[in-house]
Amino acid sequence: MEVKLITHTPDPDLVCAAVAKTSRSNLTPAELLVKSAGEREKALKLLREIIKSGHISVTEHASFTFSISGVSRALTHELVRHRLASFTQQSQRYVRVSGEDAFLTPPMVNASEKASKIFQSALSEIRKSYDELIKLGVPVEDARYILPNATKATIVVTMNCRELLHFFSLRCCDRAQWEIRDLAELMAKECKKVAPVIFEKAGPSCVQLGTCPEGTFSCGKMKEMKEKYSKL
Ligand SMILES: Cc1cc2nc3c(=O)[nH]c(=O)nc-3n(C[C@H](O)[C@H](O)[C@H](O)COP(=O)(O)OP(=O)(O)OC[C@H]3O[C@@H](n4cnc5c(N)ncnc54)[C@H](O)[C@@H]3O)c2cc1C
Repeated sequence: MEVKLITHTPDPDLVCAAVAKTSRSNLTPAELLVKSAGEREKALKLLREIIKSGHISVTEHASFTFSISGVSRALTHELVRHRLASFTQQSQRYVRVSGEDAFLTPPMVNASEKASKIFQSALSEIRKSYDELIKLGVPVEDARYILPNATKATIVVTMNCRELLHFFSLRCCDRAQWEIRDLAELMAKECKKVAPVIFEKAGPSCVQLGTCPEGTFSCGKMKEMKEKYSKL
């Protein structure tokens, strides 16, 4: 999996801090941005307080764009369920799946020699049939119907910070599927570097809210999770 933060709102913490001041100031947001830059620590303190009090809509004014590759279609199918994000994905209609590295094998499959053999043999059969169908004149967009969830995908995703925090609350959770959890963790790491105030508590719900919404399904590892995400 390769995850690259390709662009983001410049200085997201400061932008959101200035935005937050708009509701209680006679100055314009543009003037507040300049003022906030001059008194950065004070502005960031205010932002921290506002986020803590739950008024996180101000974090919608900054966004992050990630290039994601080497992930499975199973992952991208889960990712695109996040409706407040924007996506552009490599098309299986126009890009023919090819090459030895076209499929992703889950670690749990690789952990067993027998499972790995079954998995690779099925992939090899699918690859062969896909190529044969195309040779017979079946359009790539139709031949793709036999491709598996393991097919690798490339996708660009843009989310504002509020949606990112929501995404992390669900997908950094131990209950999330391993591949999207790995992705969410890598994304959270990048976000924390660029906007340490907004993403101070980025992580699963238990880290962000201090409680686990999973009830009896809870992993019970709240302490470990808090420690992990404070060091991310
Ligand atoms: C552990 C786990 C297991 C899952 N298992 C399944 C499964 O078995 N089957 C399945 O289908 N999905 C499953 N999902 C996906 C899940 O149901 C959600 O579709 C996905 O997590 C996106 O969450 P969301 O709707 O909160 O996020 P987003 O789409 O990013 O939305 C963010 C928030 O905006 C608000 N919002 C967005 N759209 C609307 C709207 N139309 N109306 C009102 N409010 C809106 C909501 O408050 C929402 O929480 C699973 C997710 C997780 C994390």
